[in-house]
Amino acid sequence: MTGPAAETKMQFLYALRSKGVTDGRVLSAMEQIDRGAFVRGLFSERAYEDMPLPIACGQTISQPSVVGLMTQALQVSPRDKVLEVGTGSGYQAAILSKLARRIYTVDRHIRLVREARRVFEELQLANITAFTADGSHGLPDQAPFDRIIVTAAAEDPPGPLLAQLKIGGIMVVPVGQSDTVQTLIRVRRTESGPVYDELRPVRFVPLLEGLGKDG
Ligand code: SAH
Repeated sequence: MTGPAAETKMQFLYALRSKGVTDGRVLSAMEQIDRGAFVRGLFSERAYEDMPLPIACGQTISQPSVVGLMTQALQVSPRDKVLEVGTGSGYQAAILSKLARRIYTVDRHIRLVREARRVFEELQLANITAFTADGSHGLPDQAPFDRIIVTAAAEDPPGPLLAQLKIGGIMVVPVGQSDTVQTLIRVRRTESGPVYDELRPVRFVPLLEGLGKDG
């Protein structure tokens, strides 16, 4: 894996900064992980543009600046155990793997999980475990988590996910109807209950129930 030319990489990082991704650790993780490894075919030429791109199963790899802003909002520390719901291409999980101790990621499409696992191996990201599952139920066997990131839009933050968050933990989740603009929400679980913060408008594919047709 050679990765992009130095100039392409510089422009990619510049675009991230200009959209508000300013956390040095997040930028460094995004510099280390080659987005081109997560995009196939025709679209791979556009991997370093700040736009979402189609992946298999009718899904999308998110816009890099949105990945950066969500990662930043998650305030991950090196000892954290993180759950991602919506593996998709695996790009977001790969970024998180550079910032946290352990990443669990789930997708309802077995094909996406298989392809993402292959890329994690290729890039030697050994602290990520990917499962095929309906992530709206979380991962009870691995819970509780320090951080949870949902990369598909839910109508409400799923209750089981909140229950699997440690006290003091943070969850970042896009909330809203799938065909309209959604709001990115940050939820902190405190002793006295969840505290919600509205961060910014976003647009994600919907969080769906059950497994995909291919799995
Ligand atoms: N984070 C991804 C992009 C995710 S796209 C990346 O970095 O590329 C949203 C993903 O959420 C899709 O792959 C979709 O299959 C998945 N998804 C939707 N509903 C889900 C559910 N209930 N459980 C797990 N995955 C789900």
